[in-house]
Amino acid sequence: MVAEVIINRGAKKLNRTFDYNIPKELEELILVGSKVLVPFGNGGKLTEAFVVGIKEKSDFEVKDIAKLEENLSNKQIALAKWMAKRYFCNVSDCIKLMLTPGTRNKNKEKRIQDKTINCVYLKKDIEEIEFEIETGKIKSEKHKKILNFIKDNEGATVPEIEMFTDCSRAIVNTLVKNGYLEIVEKKVERNPLLRRECEKTDKLNLTEEQENAYKCVEEAIDNKEYKQFLLYGVTGSGKTEVYLQLIEKVLNKGDNAIVLVPEISLTPQMLDRFISRFGKEDIAILHSKLSIGERHDEWERIREKKARIVIGARSAIFAPIENIGIIIIDEEHDSSYKSETNPRYHAKEIAKIIARENQAPLVLGSATPDIQTFYNATNKDENGNTKIQLLTLTKRANQSSLPKVEIIDLKQELANGNRSMLSMELYNSIEENLKQKRQTILFLNRRGYSTFIMCRNCGYTVKCPNCNISMTYHSYERKLKCHYCGHEEKIVTTCPECHSDKIRYFGTGTQKLEQEIHKQFPNASTIRMDIDTVTKKNSHEEILNTFKNENIDILIGTQMVVKGHHFPNVTLVGVIAADSSLNIDDYRANERTFQILTQVAGRAGRENLPGKVVIQTYNPDNFSIICAQKQDYNMFYETEIALRKQLKYPPFCDIIVIGFNSYHEAEIKNIANTIYQYLEQRLNKEEFKTFKPMPCPIDKIQNRYRWRMIIKGNMTEEANAVLNACLKNIYKQNIKDTRIAIDINPNNMS
Ligand code: ADP
Ligand code: ZN
Ligand code: ZN
Repeated sequence: MVAEVIINRGAKKLNRTFDYNIPKELEELILVGSKVLVPFGNGGKLTEAFVVGIKEKSDFEVKDIAKLEENLSNKQIALAKWMAKRYFCNVSDCIKLMLTPGTRNKNKEKRIQDKTINCVYLKKDIEEIEFEIETGKIKSEKHKKILNFIKDNEGATVPEIEMFTDCSRAIVNTLVKNGYLEIVEKKVERNPLLRRECEKTDKLNLTEEQENAYKCVEEAIDNKEYKQFLLYGVTGSGKTEVYLQLIEKVLNKGDNAIVLVPEISLTPQMLDRFISRFGKEDIAILHSKLSIGERHDEWERIREKKARIVIGARSAIFAPIENIGIIIIDEEHDSSYKSETNPRYHAKEIAKIIARENQAPLVLGSATPDIQTFYNATNKDENGNTKIQLLTLTKRANQSSLPKVEIIDLKQELANGNRSMLSMELYNSIEENLKQKRQTILFLNRRGYSTFIMCRNCGYTVKCPNCNISMTYHSYERKLKCHYCGHEEKIVTTCPECHSDKIRYFGTGTQKLEQEIHKQFPNASTIRMDIDTVTKKNSHEEILNTFKNENIDILIGTQMVVKGHHFPNVTLVGVIAADSSLNIDDYRANERTFQILTQVAGRAGRENLPGKVVIQTYNPDNFSIICAQKQDYNMFYETEIALRKQLKYPPFCDIIVIGFNSYHEAEIKNIANTIYQYLEQRLNKEEFKTFKPMPCPIDKIQNRYRWRMIIKGNMTEEANAVLNACLKNIYKQNIKDTRIAIDINPNNMS
């Protein structure tokens, strides 16, 4: 038999199959999905490869497969092939996501070893040993002591024996040599949950709304039916309780569950809710903060069917778990579910495929659903059906009320002579909160890297007339550019709307804010959370714990403070400038603003104490800010979806970005133009709008030039085939060092 393999290398030229002979002794073991070592290249160096097909014979003279390393399933290989097409990458890039972490190092010596301990067992029959002790054949007191100890504690380690019997390792070795004891190497699992203890909790009585939602999904579980649900519920409406009870249902049926959560909300608080319901034995967690060893062990625990609930960030969707009875994606709108590096997959798309294969429901949960998701949950086809079934929770489960939200117009503050970062209202509220010994969160909304300019007098920002996207300031050329269509304008020094000269560049930091707080409230304790302060393992968590346990007065932070934490003593949340996310050069600017403000507002007054939120902005009339104030998703959705439709943005089409980078700008221009012309000819003009290639907003990184071209249109199978064919043609050419990446609806447009 002959195996068709794909070599595990990034080179685009190698994204095809090679034939290798399957040696007799491996014939039964090698399957589609096996990871093998094959001699490859001139030196015949052993190289990792994946078997993607098996056939009778090859047309070529072929070498033998050298070694079998790991087996994946047919389904996984099929998924990897689908992903390679869909996300324009090598099959091997996708397979890597499905392999046990820590075993893909080419150099075998350097692999992560299973951590093992030496456990000591009796080798001779216990009655025989007792007989020998009685009859005096075993004389040494120390020997007797150890044998008696092991009799009662089989599996003890050598250090344990040393500690409890006061005998040395040498005596254990003698007993091993004489055939009384044996030492067995055992694998220990570096279970990241090992040291977590929490009390068991019972399920709560569901509210009527929760019960309705639960029943709908339960029906799909019972019928073994693939179906998508959107569990749309305000913050604190008890979505998690619904997840927990659905998982319990699935486990009782003997099936397993996957729960995806945003990387940043994989906090102990969140995990504790699952552990206290199901116990840690059944749960495996996967995320990037674990060591490779930990991830390796969790993966093995899943593979060995020891863990039945996988909780993890994006990549946990590839966990080797079978018989999946439900997949849950919490905070489904979160941008971390989309990978921004190769392969540029979306976990939601993968989850759909896996749920369908398993005939299991897929539950998407959010208080501020992705516009696309909500569209699919409410837009009816000609038969009156929606792609996703909508389940709504309108009330908070624990009866706490939503906080009071005030919007402060910063233009007015400026007119009143207040030039500080804090409005009078926010200043007074902080002062009051400090007096009451309650905690405050100050949030600085800063997404993306681009600088935008705005009139501090009237809130005017320069937007592209074609795209309705904030134009970005390029300091070198002293020009404003639209990052979508390339439209350029000269920089303005006076405001075209109100003719004032208060045009300013924006981009303020948390550090500056902290300094200002110290100046204005010298006695207040503060703690800061942003990219600079959150680096090492658990640090994110440490900051939050310190804030909570040491009752720090004020937490200052970026996006990171927004996600699902629960601080009973936080009664005030201040948003320093809501505008920065409104002016990112992205069609999702309104959506991001609404999501972030709604979530940050949800941090205040989660329990008995009433909460207050102060949102400072130069655009008090902006609908995403007003809707966030009212916590009215529906109103936001109606306005936003109309805009998207009018301007043709997702969900009415996809934004396809083809990115290029190279040391040689001439080569980029050349390749990009070839692609542009190819696509202009082959993509249907009615359905696709292809924009000319141009430099990226950040047009050079580490001496590599960056260009891109944008296509607006629906990413259909046909369009996908055209793009893949286009890439294939390009890779046939002699390319010096230009890298090409295609991304569908990327998070970051810089
Ligand atoms: P969400 O996930 O929607 O933000 P949570 O599941 O965190 O909401 O629930 C918010 C609070 O309400 C939690 O303290 C939770 O224990 C409580 N809760 C949830 N469901 C119920 C219920 N049916 N009865 C009483 N309390 C509930
Ligand atoms: Zn103005
Ligand atoms: Zn434009």
